[in-house]
Amino acid sequence: MVINGEWDQRSLTISIKANCLTISLSVSGGAEVYSFDGEGRLWTALLDGVSYRRGLDGKLVAKWQTPGGGRDRCWLPPEKADELQAYIRKQVAGLLRALQDGQVRLDQPLPQQGLDDMRRAVAFDQQRIEADVARYHQVYKPVGILPPDQYMAVVLQATEGCAFNTCTFCDFYKSRPFRIKKPDEFSEHLLAVREFLGRGLSLRRTIFLGDANALVTPMNRLVPMFEAVHRVYDVQGLGGIYAFLDGFSGEKKSARDYHMLSEMGLERVYVGLESGNQELLNFLKKPGKAADAVKAVRAMKAGGVAVGVIVLLGAGGHTYSRAHVRYTIADINAMVLDLNDIVYFSELVETEGKAYVRDAYQASLRPLTEAERIAQAEAIEEGLQFSRRGGVPHISRYDIREFVY
Ligand code: SF4
Repeated sequence: MVINGEWDQRSLTISIKANCLTISLSVSGGAEVYSFDGEGRLWTALLDGVSYRRGLDGKLVAKWQTPGGGRDRCWLPPEKADELQAYIRKQVAGLLRALQDGQVRLDQPLPQQGLDDMRRAVAFDQQRIEADVARYHQVYKPVGILPPDQYMAVVLQATEGCAFNTCTFCDFYKSRPFRIKKPDEFSEHLLAVREFLGRGLSLRRTIFLGDANALVTPMNRLVPMFEAVHRVYDVQGLGGIYAFLDGFSGEKKSARDYHMLSEMGLERVYVGLESGNQELLNFLKKPGKAADAVKAVRAMKAGGVAVGVIVLLGAGGHTYSRAHVRYTIADINAMVLDLNDIVYFSELVETEGKAYVRDAYQASLRPLTEAERIAQAEAIEEGLQFSRRGGVPHISRYDIREFVY
């Protein structure tokens, strides 16, 4: 339901949905927009042309357009995040008071749910934020990364960490060893996540089985985990189960295994191919063979599970660029993707301290510029071929620096 009105000579829109509340206020020079989940947690905001997204861990990322038409981002320092949330709460509290005092003109009466949602947003104060973030850290080990279309998932950590942890360009899970949760522990985690999300669960769109390679879990342990998820969550209502499978030297599943998991709600598996060039994969210390990634994807597709294939743009700099493009095209074409699948181009992020930066320096690799990385993505995309019958997968960029859960 969308209600339009006027408050304090500013136009106002209140959108009340079953899963979120959104308030838009016109201000001099533009508009301010705030949205909240069912618990009253700030979810997104737009102020002064800067969009903000708050993660469940309490961190806020700000994104804006640069004058040249590009985009930039930064994570707010905690005090700035608190300041922003306090300002937004003050605005909503002011609106709530004005509504109660009859100082707001609306084109239709505000339903009780709208008032309740606003009260929850105001009540989600600093103390509540701190308690919520503390609870988040009890429920979750750090969620390293998700595919961009899964930022609104319910993450369920069936495993923790990465079973391989060797790739030089990736530091998401270096701080913890890989382990598969025991059945009781996983069941407790499922309940704890549900309790933590509370009414905010309705905003979540899918279920993501974490962490980096939950699907390396052997079938005799994975199937009971899927069953446990079904006992606690409405898997179909939430849009199914999604997961990463990364590195291919672990347990290999057959098309029959994937079919069974698909019957239990597995919708899509995200595969970190990175490159089709085996030499480059060796340089990156990525476990497994590129050919194994192709086989794994074909098994998934044959089992009725869609895939998201991730390609690492800029990996190996100029030295590997030609082979990277050539063999990546060949491998993706061999996967026989269709319109249910996704190809993600993820840019290599060369932050200090990553082993990749050291290795690239020692190998005298010349990095690709931003424009050359874009050209690399275009060159790969140009070489991809899809059947008319299957259709074309969605092809998109994946910026790991924008990840928020
Ligand atoms: S297998 Fe994936 S999650 Fe593990 S270290 Fe490599 S890129 Fe990172």
